[in-house]
Amino acid sequence: MIKNILLVVFICCFISCEKNTPKNEETAATKEITSNVPTEPEETEVWEPKPPTVVPGKNNMPPSDAIVLFDGTNLDQWISVKDSLAPTWILNGDGSMTVKNGAGNIQTKKAFGDIQLHLEWRSSAEIRADGQNRSNSGVFFQKRYEIQVLDNNDNDTYVNGQVGAIYKQTIPLAMASVLTGEWNTYDIVYHAPVFDSEGEKAQSGTITVVHNGILIQDHAEIMGTTEYIGWPKNNAHGKAPLQLQDHNDRSGVSYRNIWVREL
Ligand code: MG
Repeated sequence: MIKNILLVVFICCFISCEKNTPKNEETAATKEITSNVPTEPEETEVWEPKPPTVVPGKNNMPPSDAIVLFDGTNLDQWISVKDSLAPTWILNGDGSMTVKNGAGNIQTKKAFGDIQLHLEWRSSAEIRADGQNRSNSGVFFQKRYEIQVLDNNDNDTYVNGQVGAIYKQTIPLAMASVLTGEWNTYDIVYHAPVFDSEGEKAQSGTITVVHNGILIQDHAEIMGTTEYIGWPKNNAHGKAPLQLQDHNDRSGVSYRNIWVREL
């Protein structure tokens, strides 16, 4: 009889202990998570807020929300960096403009932060020089960070300064130029660097470049200013204009169809 009573007590204690083990707690938690697993398609659908509608441009025209910086008719959105006057770059009759040798860089009147940029560029059909002096120009984001424009066809140069490079920083993933004298496209997503209240860089800028439909810079970190001589600098700045480069080498580079979308 005593033996049977002890057996019952033992069994009761065992069941009680089992109920209080972590294993059982986990099981309870798992049951709770399991009960939140969607069982209907509607449970994982998000309907609001709706993104804005942007109408794509037809026939190579800008999208509906773009800021048009150059459509071939005038240079009203630009000034000369040298004197802040109207640029003297050459306005061609075919919807394009050409760098005027020695006139210096031009920049937008408007200052930008994060942008999506589309532009088209063409190197000179006439080959006048080699290396960095063959149709060298460039697109400077916020006046400081250059994506190289260069005629690299059968024209060797240092690869961190070739066409599509973040100048002297990041080699492009591919050389994607069309033939010399034909129109190239650059589609670029640029995110500006962030500086803290002390003027220290808190977050690097980044850039993604698609050259003629080919990814050549993949969310690449911008180390700082793209210097010809010396290392990148990181002085604090806010929004700043977009610049196009006169490399002063009779580059003969032309541009057309330039627009941005602010991000
Ligand atoms: Mg350049």
